[in-house]
Amino acid sequence: MNAILKSTTATRSTQEWQAADAAHYLHPFTDFKSLANKGSRVIVSADNIYLRDSDGHKILDAMSGLWCVNVGYGRKELIEAATKQMTELPFYNSFFQTATPPAIELAELLSEVTPPQFKHVFFSGSGSEGNDTVVRMVRRYWDVLGQPERTVIISRNNAYHGSTMAGASLGGMSGMHAQGGLPIPGITHIEQPFWFELGQGLSRDEFGLKAAGWLETKILEVGADKVAAFIGEPVQGAGGVIVPPETYWPEIQRICDKYGVLVVSDEVICGFGRTGHWFGCERFGFQPDLMTFAKGVTSGYIPLGGVMVGERIATVLIEQGGEFNHGYTYSGHPVACAVALANIRVLQREGIVERVHDDLGPYMAQQFATLSEHPLVGEVQTCGLMGAVQLVQDKASGKTFPSALDVGMVCRGHCFGNGLIMRAVGDRMIVAPPLVITRAQIDEMMALIRRCLDLTLTDATRQGWLRA
Ligand SMILES: *Cc1c(COP(=O)(O)O)cnc(C)c1O
Repeated sequence: MNAILKSTTATRSTQEWQAADAAHYLHPFTDFKSLANKGSRVIVSADNIYLRDSDGHKILDAMSGLWCVNVGYGRKELIEAATKQMTELPFYNSFFQTATPPAIELAELLSEVTPPQFKHVFFSGSGSEGNDTVVRMVRRYWDVLGQPERTVIISRNNAYHGSTMAGASLGGMSGMHAQGGLPIPGITHIEQPFWFELGQGLSRDEFGLKAAGWLETKILEVGADKVAAFIGEPVQGAGGVIVPPETYWPEIQRICDKYGVLVVSDEVICGFGRTGHWFGCERFGFQPDLMTFAKGVTSGYIPLGGVMVGERIATVLIEQGGEFNHGYTYSGHPVACAVALANIRVLQREGIVERVHDDLGPYMAQQFATLSEHPLVGEVQTCGLMGAVQLVQDKASGKTFPSALDVGMVCRGHCFGNGLIMRAVGDRMIVAPPLVITRAQIDEMMALIRRCLDLTLTDATRQGWLRA
């Protein structure tokens, strides 16, 4: 009896949750010991764009969970779709020459909402798995075409493509490569299109061409006949909402076309409306051969990922490929697919992507622009409903703080304390709120961001950190 009571949220205090958490639960991307000492924040419920923690605090979730809750929390349509599908058929696989109605219907709907070169999809359970599929698929493609030596995939420093062996290898996070002997062979990286850090002295457009040029240099260094694909996020998300110059992607496309290199767009964050377009490649004007998706496809209500496969690749794999020896137990999971269908229909019915494009994105951009006057702010960038605020030590020169001061974490601490979830990537403060946020709620978010920047400025002044 006691054990049953103890398993409900109402019967445990925050301290009890934290003690059990510290005793048994190893969190992702976490210093286990320091979190165990500090105690986790326990989130117990959510509605619309707000979370509630186990102490009853209301928090504005400006990160959409982890870039995924695009239609907001508590949507009946998604909950009902899951319940109905669980009742009818909670699971069946697609290995045994079988399929389920939700998986078929979702494949069909995805080929409608994605760019015209996409008529086929391969499902996975997450974005990382989707990128594992990308690695297997591009190498298989070149193998079938009789060019098995085309194996190298070029990615970028500070990219995030997930945390499996292939995902972390494609990613360009040095901290991840340092643990576990990564990257795996056949993956190499070029510098990122981060104007603020690498482009000073050049206009953004000049820098965009220069940054894309690093790809051509790398292709020639590796040997064009050995390069299978280039992969990139249209806007780098986890790397700090780094919006590339407008010249970057068209030039990347031109270079890849020149050498026959496949283009892979990792749309795990940018897909399903985040940029004000259905997919980030449409925002930046390029035509990928493969597109990884996850997160926003189900608004995070249930895990689902996959890869859209362009006709250039699909035709070869279908007509000449024979069996593709790859797949996951949960590829095309019927409940996940049913939730994705409901989610995409909400996006369509409510015109959410158009609203981000026409109204909310431009409004947030305008509001973010006013932050550039703040003494701590060196640069602001937005794209659709993603935004970044770069904190600097010296506004005039754009000099950044020494990383040991961890000013971003100080600011994030103030956000936590003031009912705002905003993430720190180094000293870049980032947001990606649910796409159903209203203008009034953007105002509320901006007021909280300003308050947290002011509190951080007070700390920095008091500590003497602003003296260069
Ligand atoms: C989150 C993310 C991934 C990994 O997705 P998971 O579902 O966590 O495996 C891959 N690519 C990008 C761009 C992401 O943001």
